[in-house]
Amino acid sequence: MQRRQLLLSSTQALAASALLPLASSAQAQTTPAPWATPAPLTPVWARPDRIIAVACCTRPFRAQGPRIEAQRLGRQTVVHNYGHGGAGWSLSWGSAQQALRLVQATGATRLGVIGCGAIGLTTARLAQMAGLKVRIYCAERPPEVRSSAATGVWSPESRICTEAQATPAFQSQWEAMARFSFQRFQSLLGLPGEPVMWQDGYFLSDVPFDAELASVPPHDEEPDYPDLEDLIGDIRPRSVLLQPEQHPFAVPHVRRYTQMVFNLPAYTEWLLNGFMRDGGEIITRHFEHPRQLSSLPETTLVNATGWGARALWGDDSLVPVRGQTARLVPQAGVNYGLQWRGHNLFMVSRKDGILVQAQSVGDWGNADATPDRAASVAAVERLAGLFRSG
Ligand SMILES: Cc1cc2nc3c(=O)[nH]c(=O)nc-3n(C[C@H](O)[C@H](O)[C@H](O)COP(=O)(O)OP(=O)(O)OC[C@H]3O[C@@H](n4cnc5c(N)ncnc54)[C@H](O)[C@@H]3O)c2cc1C
Repeated sequence: MQRRQLLLSSTQALAASALLPLASSAQAQTTPAPWATPAPLTPVWARPDRIIAVACCTRPFRAQGPRIEAQRLGRQTVVHNYGHGGAGWSLSWGSAQQALRLVQATGATRLGVIGCGAIGLTTARLAQMAGLKVRIYCAERPPEVRSSAATGVWSPESRICTEAQATPAFQSQWEAMARFSFQRFQSLLGLPGEPVMWQDGYFLSDVPFDAELASVPPHDEEPDYPDLEDLIGDIRPRSVLLQPEQHPFAVPHVRRYTQMVFNLPAYTEWLLNGFMRDGGEIITRHFEHPRQLSSLPETTLVNATGWGARALWGDDSLVPVRGQTARLVPQAGVNYGLQWRGHNLFMVSRKDGILVQAQSVGDWGNADATPDRAASVAAVERLAGLFRSG
């Protein structure tokens, strides 16, 4: 995906191209079938006074993709598993599978996992399922971890590496991670609290989807990202181009897509409960330097410290990409997502609220995770404008 396209679409643009194969695709469906007519949509009460939380965090981006490799450190082996950009939740199971292979190569029966975010928790769970006894060490645990501030959609290609570094080897590694994760998530459907669910959404555009927008937002330093979605095109529901009478929006071009959504509080609880039920233990501890790991009893460790790996391991290849979401009061009937191309608008409806993402120029390389409420209020007002014009 070109950086320009990313900026032109609303936010995580992920979805923009990833979930929405455009007309150029041979398989794209442009004539809606009768069943494609949507039921009337409940308008979102998009008002700043309904904002119940503003969360901000940084995506741990590496141009070369996540670091999944083993390193010998004295008597211990450390398996690194960090640097998943905007795709940490989405790729977590597949990434854990690759890390676990390296863990199992050591012959360990006990494992220490440093980190309790999306990556640490899933790696710990997968290791338990493989019969290992696992202990997590972490400075923070959910909901204080950065992972808890994510949007919560399946976005496996979102800021996962640069286009220049998407080698064939990386592409096949990514495909394996995405496919394994996708299958895991399907086994979590229909559970109490709906940790994972599928949801329809609407991608809106003022001009045809294959046309460029007239106005281009100001540039920042963000690189171009690779188009990876075709590698898993067979497991993604296709989007449908809707006719004007088939949607309620006062926007001329609309596609309906279907996306996987993670209800992060319920999903995290499901992970933590399973971990504790299977004999897991969590110890709060902050490591200032890798040599402090030698005090741990486990001889095999997984380093799942996310952005924290930059300070702990001195990995300067980690680049912070700031992101922020506002959460609106959950609203009955609002069970769909929205993206408005070129209007910096991305919304997803979760069980714990309606998330409205705000993307700003200057997010790239920005490690400041202080919430900017004014930016979220502006995003909510853009959303309100969409319904007013409808
Ligand atoms: C706005 C936004 C929206 C996003 N939306 C999505 C999305 O919809 N879907 C998706 O797949 N991804 C999304 N992401 C990306 C995703 O959030 C990250 O890729 C993911 O959170 C990374 O998880 P992690 O476990 O590696 O890191 P973290 O969640 O940061 O966890 C790191 C853990 O390591 C611990 N730790 C760190 N340093 C130390 C230390 N020195 N000593 C001890 N413990 C330490 C921390 O306490 C924590 O427990 C989004 C990101 C942002 C910013």
